[in-house]
Amino acid sequence: LFAGEVEFLKGVVAMDGLPPSDRIEVCFAGRSNVGKSSLINAVTGRKAIARASNTPGRTQEINFFTVQDALYLVDLPGYGFANAPLPVVEKWQRLLKSYLSGRPTLRRVFVLIDARHGAKAVDEEIMSLLDRSAVTFQCVMTKTDKVKASDLEKSLATTRAALTRHPAAFPEIVLTSSEKGDGISTLRAIIASID
Ligand code: GDP
Repeated sequence: LFAGEVEFLKGVVAMDGLPPSDRIEVCFAGRSNVGKSSLINAVTGRKAIARASNTPGRTQEINFFTVQDALYLVDLPGYGFANAPLPVVEKWQRLLKSYLSGRPTLRRVFVLIDARHGAKAVDEEIMSLLDRSAVTFQCVMTKTDKVKASDLEKSLATTRAALTRHPAAFPEIVLTSSEKGDGISTLRAIIASID
């Protein structure tokens, strides 16, 4: 799937800007700085297809990429900005809710979790929203190269405990390092198997 073309289609700021639901889509979500751009770049095999998420002005867009005309890969804005103004946060939450509940072709959301921290309260807020929207999600640990095995186990335990509270969670957690390439082919295979 990812051997073929991956192209940036558009950045969406409102529901009426969404592309037609004419193919399945998978989505990437995570706290800002979790390593989402790096992971999307690694999975698609393109150096910089996902803009740095902190590019001014683009942080609140839902970015759509086409993968071989077969799949939309969707990059959600990073959440958990400490200093974002409330109106910005509220606008983003409204768009996110509308998007998640109004997209019949959305098959799975990958919720990225930093291997150093495990799932935090803000991650669980997104998981709860996904539960309410009845959208299946799967956790992906990022930056596993940055932690010792024992700390990775702790983050995994925290995250597994969180998942038990969320009925929309897919049980298997994917371990990745965009830096080292670990888990990238596994994630590609998971995406390719979704229909
Ligand atoms: P985003 O804000 O979620 O899109 O995060 P980025 O992809 O921009 O990454 C945030 C920071 O983490 C950058 O400095 C990356 O170089 C670094 N980073 C991302 N993925 C990895 C990884 O797998 N390993 C390591 N060591 N650093 C990473």
